[in-house]
Amino acid sequence: MIYLDNCATTFPKPENVIRSVCNSFRKFGANPGRGGHNAAMEASQQVFNVREKIKDFFNAGEPENVIFTSGCTESLNTVIKGILRQGDHVVISSLEHNSVVRPLERLKKEGLITYDVAQVCECDHDKTVDNFRNKFNDHTRLVVCTHASNVFGLRLPIERIAALCHQYGIKICVDAAQTAGVLPIDVKGDCIDYLCLSGHKGLYGPMGIGVLIINCEEIPKPLKEGGTGSSSVSFEQPVFLPDRFESGTPNLPGICGLGAGIDFVKSRGMERIFKHEMHFLSRVYNGLEKNKNIILYTQKPDLNFHVPVLSLNVRGKSSEETAAVLNRRYNIAARAGLHCSPLAHISYGTENIGTVRICPSVFSDYSHGDMLVNALKKI
Ligand code: PLP
Repeated sequence: MIYLDNCATTFPKPENVIRSVCNSFRKFGANPGRGGHNAAMEASQQVFNVREKIKDFFNAGEPENVIFTSGCTESLNTVIKGILRQGDHVVISSLEHNSVVRPLERLKKEGLITYDVAQVCECDHDKTVDNFRNKFNDHTRLVVCTHASNVFGLRLPIERIAALCHQYGIKICVDAAQTAGVLPIDVKGDCIDYLCLSGHKGLYGPMGIGVLIINCEEIPKPLKEGGTGSSSVSFEQPVFLPDRFESGTPNLPGICGLGAGIDFVKSRGMERIFKHEMHFLSRVYNGLEKNKNIILYTQKPDLNFHVPVLSLNVRGKSSEETAAVLNRRYNIAARAGLHCSPLAHISYGTENIGTVRICPSVFSDYSHGDMLVNALKKI
């Protein structure tokens, strides 16, 4: 199989990630933070080590600013539902995932908040930043914006948008689902208030693990409350981080696998991985751009303006039809449809047909890209 659906989740996972997950079951699989015996202590130490590793990788300041969640969706929900109050206004980008749009839409329907959408302009960061500024009003309390589109691969200048937010006293929450492990992210340096990310994509960890990094004094209400292994005498949820958000038995295999995924990315070099994947997509783009029967929705992948995600269609065919033929006849795995991001598709007028999305990984071979190009030409 040629797997080109790495934006959904990276596959295969590196051997050291698989080993680390297995070791968490075989060697120290007790409940972290719940017991003084050696196995529980060892499990707690492993969780702490990964927390430290994430803190360093994203320059998050203190390890307790790093909160383990079940994924980027939970991280985003925690911020959105945990800090917004009656009358607040929110600005989001035109490329947001349903993990952002749906919680906001619910709060809007409940009469709690309003929100506006700032258009992202491909290869024009100045215009994108202006569009955010133009949507601010006196009630704007939060900006939620993706670091890069999971459909069209456009990158947003989050450091500039964060600086703009701080100028206006607005908090910023960045959805780094598609960029964690792909692009450098400096939480402290860029003054990102909340960073939400997935462990199972560019960080090569297992599914079911994500992270929320909190870098400001405005601490959200927790989504869930319960056992934390700390302050057990109290009937109330602890206020301190990270325990305030980590109720229930932690996902030890996921956390260990995520730590190993970060080691893997560091050992291969994040910049090298990024350049490899971008080169893969540039070759695909070059092979298809002159073909009148292929619709490419973005400009040629550019290191400064894109991430390794390319959307396309075969003229006259639905995206589902094309992806089904790629799968059945050529054993190429690519995702079709709306990719949980209808808002992004509305910007490109593809909300009715969707797109076929191509996302390579560190394991994608250039010959796989050539096979994809030939298969699309035949289709
Ligand atoms: N945000 C974006 C941009 C995504 O691409 C995804 C997943 O595809 C998510 C959020 C949700 O991430 P998770 O699967 O970790 O909950």
